[in-house]
Amino acid sequence: MTKRKAADEVFCRSCGAAIKQASELCPNCGVRNDNYSPASSGGGRGGVHDPAQYETSVSDTWWYGVAAGTGIWVLLVLASALGGDLGAGGGILVLIGWAGLPLSVYFDSQYVRANSEWDPNVAVWVILSAIWFLNIAAGAAYLYRRHQVLGEP
Ligand SMILES: [Zn+2]
Repeated sequence: MTKRKAADEVFCRSCGAAIKQASELCPNCGVRNDNYSPASSGGGRGGVHDPAQYETSVSDTWWYGVAAGTGIWVLLVLASALGGDLGAGGGILVLIGWAGLPLSVYFDSQYVRANSEWDPNVAVWVILSAIWFLNIAAGAAYLYRRHQVLGEP
């Protein structure tokens, strides 16, 4: 006779019955379950990221901001490399790019966290996207990773 057990079950060390891993005592013989692990582990550190744990009302359109912010920075860097002067428009672009990119990353990462298996470290990405020049790489890397886990854009 072969013993069968489900994925969430273990064999009792005393009587060999298949019992739920989440049950502390064997219902068959009453011996303590050696493999007992409470089902409600609270989803602590080290666990697999579960998107269902997160709820968000953030829309999925913030990546436009990430893309636009990254694009603005590419434009600014190109303009300064070419010695061009964007004038007043350049100042506005700097403001939009500098504030808009981290803001977009902040909101979008919450959407990503609740809708994919990727759990972006929000603080790290926001900081990276606020540092001049580094933010271009950060924005591109973010969009690439986002595309991998979500299949969009
Ligand atoms: Zn037992």
